[in-house]
This record gives sequence, structure tokens and C-alpha cells, in this order.
Amino acid sequence: MAHELAPLPYPKEALEPHIDALTMEIHHGRHHKAYVDNLNKALAGHSALEAKPLEALIADLASVPDAIRGPVRNNGGGHWNHTFFWNLLAPGKGGSPSGDLAAAITAAFGSFETFKEKFEAAGLGRFGSGWAWLVVQGGKLEIVSTPNQDNPLMGKSVSGVEGKPILGIDVWEHAYYLKYQNKRADYLKAVWNIVNWDKVAALYAAVR
Ligand code: MN
Repeated sequence: MAHELAPLPYPKEALEPHIDALTMEIHHGRHHKAYVDNLNKALAGHSALEAKPLEALIADLASVPDAIRGPVRNNGGGHWNHTFFWNLLAPGKGGSPSGDLAAAITAAFGSFETFKEKFEAAGLGRFGSGWAWLVVQGGKLEIVSTPNQDNPLMGKSVSGVEGKPILGIDVWEHAYYLKYQNKRADYLKAVWNIVNWDKVAALYAAVR
């Protein structure tokens, strides 16, 4: 079963003015599509790996043959990360988390405002391309970042970090350059207006 590119869960212009329609169109329709296509190309002929669910595949890269491990890491990571990202954004959301998640954020970072500052710093501090993540690790919330299309699910030996992601923000230039140019900090601040905290809270509840 080949991996497939799902449609965006909202129209491409739905996240305006925070993320513009053209960026969404290119990011989903070309960048994300290329990760899916190149993943399928890499897996072609490896029937056991082709049948493996995406999350299981990227969480066990050691079982992928050397010859295709790099492409599977980059494109499998790219496919998982973008699918995760689209589904954690939504028009008319933003605001702040509530309930258990809000309490956990306050416990881990002092306040929601401090959490946002630290998360933005993780995204800004990632040199080149990558992702900023909020993960649950050993029952605690942590902010981490990864290069390229690496992901905490790949484990420490691959991505340098570990934990179950409950929020991930793309900080590749392709995610923001058309509207924000070099101002990654402005993009990161704008994204708070479209984070779907209900989804993040549901992931947090599921991980616990
Ligand atoms: Mn991207």
C-alpha cells in the first residue's frame, strides 16, 4: 500500500492572514507531495517496509536497509511531520490551552507566556531547516528541536531527541518565506493564532 497525500483539513486560504494561501498551496501540494512521492519511490520493492504504518517505519529506522535509510528518514519524516503539522493548525483557533494540558504547561515552564517564549526560541535557534516540538518525555513536557525532517519519534540515536510529539512547528524557510521573508520570529509569533489547542490537548491525554 503506497503512502498517500491527504488533502489539507481546511481550504488553503483558511489560515490567512497568518499563513498565506500561496504558501499553503506550495507547501502542501509540492513540498509535502514530494516527500510522499519520494518515500514511495524509496520503499518500492521492499514489500515488508511498504506495508508498515508510517509511524512504525520512522520509529525503527534501524530496521531499514542502509541503501534506503537516508531517503526513508528524510521523506518518511517529511510525510509524518507535515501531516501532523496540518492537523494541529486550524482557522479561528489560537488562544491558550485549558484543563490538564494548561496545568502541565504551567508546571513545566512557569506560565503559558514563558512556554511560548521558549518554544519560539527553540524554533529560532534551529540553524537552517528543521522543526520545533513540544513532546511528552517520561511523563513530562519538554521543548526540543530537530534538523531537517527528523522527528523525536526516530529516537535519540537518530534525531538527538526523544519523546511523543504533541505539537510541531515547521521552521523551514519554505513554511514562511513568501510572506515573512527572513523574519522567522514573526512567523513563529503568528502561528500561535492558528494552533488548535483542543487537538494538542487530545494528543496529550492520549500519550498520558
Ligand atoms: Mn515544510
